[in-house]
Amino acid sequence: MTLKKVVSTVAFLACATPAFAEAPQQSPKEKMVWITIGSDALATVRESFKSDGVELSAPLREKGGVVALRLPESQIVKLAGVIHSKLNRCAGFVAHDSETQALEEVERATTAALAPAPSAVSYFINNGPSVNAMLSGVAELNIRNTINSLSTNYNNRYYNVQSGKDAATWLQSQWTTIASGRSDISVALFTHTWTQPSVIATITGTTLPNEVVVLGGHLDSINQSSPTTGKAPGADDDASGVASITEAFRVAVANGYKPARTVKFMAYAGEEVGLYGSKAIANSFKSSGVNVVGVLQLDMTNYKGSSYDFGMVTDNTNATLNSFTTSLISTYIPGTTYTNITCGYACSDHASWYSAGYPSTMPFEATMTTDNPQIHTTGDTLTYMGGTATNSVKFAKLAVSFLGELAKGATTGNTPPPTDGGGTGGNTLTNGVESAQYSGAKSSMTCWTLTVPSGKTSLVFNTAGKTSNTGDSDLYVRFNAEPTTGTYNCKSEGSTNTESCSVTNPSAGTWYACSYGYSAYTNVTMKGTY
Ligand SMILES: [Zn+2]
Repeated sequence: MTLKKVVSTVAFLACATPAFAEAPQQSPKEKMVWITIGSDALATVRESFKSDGVELSAPLREKGGVVALRLPESQIVKLAGVIHSKLNRCAGFVAHDSETQALEEVERATTAALAPAPSAVSYFINNGPSVNAMLSGVAELNIRNTINSLSTNYNNRYYNVQSGKDAATWLQSQWTTIASGRSDISVALFTHTWTQPSVIATITGTTLPNEVVVLGGHLDSINQSSPTTGKAPGADDDASGVASITEAFRVAVANGYKPARTVKFMAYAGEEVGLYGSKAIANSFKSSGVNVVGVLQLDMTNYKGSSYDFGMVTDNTNATLNSFTTSLISTYIPGTTYTNITCGYACSDHASWYSAGYPSTMPFEATMTTDNPQIHTTGDTLTYMGGTATNSVKFAKLAVSFLGELAKGATTGNTPPPTDGGGTGGNTLTNGVESAQYSGAKSSMTCWTLTVPSGKTSLVFNTAGKTSNTGDSDLYVRFNAEPTTGTYNCKSEGSTNTESCSVTNPSAGTWYACSYGYSAYTNVTMKGTY
């Protein structure tokens, strides 16, 4: 089907008044909305609207790569269509209920770009036993069944129709079944001003309940040429993301996993029409001061279009959390590969958390030119992806390792590791063996311990910056207690992540070696050798 024909269909559907197609005359009852899009999308959108005889209003404000515009609500679907067909973005815009909200978003996005959210905690890997216990339970068939139910039981899961709501009710019951028997888990609908609610399952943390880890995907689907009534299986976009986090939730409960931090699994409503659901939730968390320490977004996980296994979105996400996520990939999903990509302003729900000032990350199924070409059509089916959920398995595993290493805590029979990187037991080094990669925030202290036997003549600690490491960490070493920047046996404070400390005739016992974030740093390893 050609674009021209599509547009007239949209215009017809949207308002059924031929007059409207000419110019965005605001009919008396026509609701206006405000949107923000990337500046790089403005010319394309303006051109496309113009070619259909619709004149876009002048920008209300443009700053930091983001533009605020005013638009008749009936044009939202057309906007989504243009951004998807011309710029290949999933959402690509944010819709707002008022001019003030839209202008605030321009300011927020600019601030977020200038000063990315500091990660509230340091990200490191020390929970292998529990994560591996959960990983071994991840099953492709479960993911496939969830995708199948969401993509075949409803004509579409559009945000403002009954079938969109029915899909939320179904998912709520699925998650409630998973949670049954656990008094520390609750499942609830987050209702909005439109038909489809979002769905949230919460596992309350044991020792750090006020620190929150979020794993999400969007529940809604869209048929671009006929949003309200058209068939929209949305098997990849985004039943696959919701199915991947559902499987992570299931294996967590099946292994008796009790996180130290609170974990929330979210299926957002209304992503396709401007990140509606995630924006409402992220802003409500912000305004009620919820301390979200990291957000993982899974949007399209089941189409193998690229030679890479993961496309790490680097724009509108948090660099420190991104490198933590790539450390998880190399640690827990060995043999898979990733590449960095950009997907533009507001391309999925991670952007709502980003502009609300929270650290978020989004591993994508491919690069932006090799992703699933069938999305937003009747063709986005499980059959089109080979009839299995094979590709989503690694995303479910990434979700499991993300919750296990960020929320910490333990599965049945395992010991909860330290949550602050210090202390004994968790972050221990083996003589001469390099640690897993870790990252840290500015002024954070991430510590490792090494037990040194008696009679050793030398002890050397080295930190190394690994592939695409960033920032500057300094090394502090101390015997028998954690060092501080004021108290230490040895320190090394060069301007990179490569540091070294030597001790001759080291005392026998526990030595602490810690990386201090002179600035936020990424992809560093620690090694101790005696
Ligand atoms: Zn999507």
